[in-house]
Amino acid sequence: MLLPIYPLVGAAKTRPHARRYRNLISTSGLRLAGIVLIVSVAGGFSGSEPDRHIEGWDEARKRMVDTQLISRDIRDVRVIDAMHKVPRHRFVPPAVRLHAYLDSPLPIGYGQTISQPYIVAYMTQALEVRPTHRVLEIGTGSGYQAAVLAELAHQVYTIEIVAPLAQRARETLASLGYRNIQVRTGNGYLGWEEHAPYDRIMVTAAPEEVPPALVQQLKVGGLMAIPVGRRFFQELKILRRMPGGMETLRALPVRFVPMTRDPIPAWSNSDAGLDR
Ligand code: SAH
Repeated sequence: MLLPIYPLVGAAKTRPHARRYRNLISTSGLRLAGIVLIVSVAGGFSGSEPDRHIEGWDEARKRMVDTQLISRDIRDVRVIDAMHKVPRHRFVPPAVRLHAYLDSPLPIGYGQTISQPYIVAYMTQALEVRPTHRVLEIGTGSGYQAAVLAELAHQVYTIEIVAPLAQRARETLASLGYRNIQVRTGNGYLGWEEHAPYDRIMVTAAPEEVPPALVQQLKVGGLMAIPVGRRFFQELKILRRMPGGMETLRALPVRFVPMTRDPIPAWSNSDAGLDR
């Protein structure tokens, strides 16, 4: 759900001819990407046989970890192991599967996106998840972040407001053999009282302020990672619950999809899931 701001974009304040040159590069780059996509799909990287080129996927995943995570600031060995292990391509729709290991968020249908791998790793590392922990995630989406958390935690509870996404995530996670994840369809703004208090809370859709229910359901001393703010002006906050309130440990500018506060939207059951 994070929309990355690529370094090339935004550097266009310079000379007009430089801008034209850059446009040329990006247009031909796009064409090239299209050709690669067509050739690769024709070559057998189709969604119906996701594991046929398993060696290719494994290599792509390893490269992603090296070039996007370790080369930046992901240092926690357990997080790196989890990112090596979880097959991200199994969580994205066939239409974008070839791009599963790119340094980018991807559409997962119903107007939602799966975060860029780096953001998943960054938020996971920031939460310092231990094997005894019970973790609440808000915004299941594809289920990918939940799977990464489940590699590190004792139990993951995750809530998704769009019913077909929740169902698809349940199926993906079951097919990969995850037994320590419970997916619920509902409004995560209210948290999940039944299993509270949680050691860690990860929020992957942005509310305008930290939902009070989530603060209440976090243990004192527990950590929360949450993007907060309005569309286009959000901060990813890493918070610790202290006896007297929430302490902000770190904050950085981000762009996530907004958290829905209404009941489950009517369009959520329409057929917009990018052809599962
Ligand atoms: N963590 C996900 C990506 C999440 S995108 C992954 O790994 O794929 C954000 C998700 O939050 C979307 O699927 C959106 O439908 C969901 N969402 C938005 N508002 C919500 C709410 N109030 N409660 C639960 N889920 C919500």
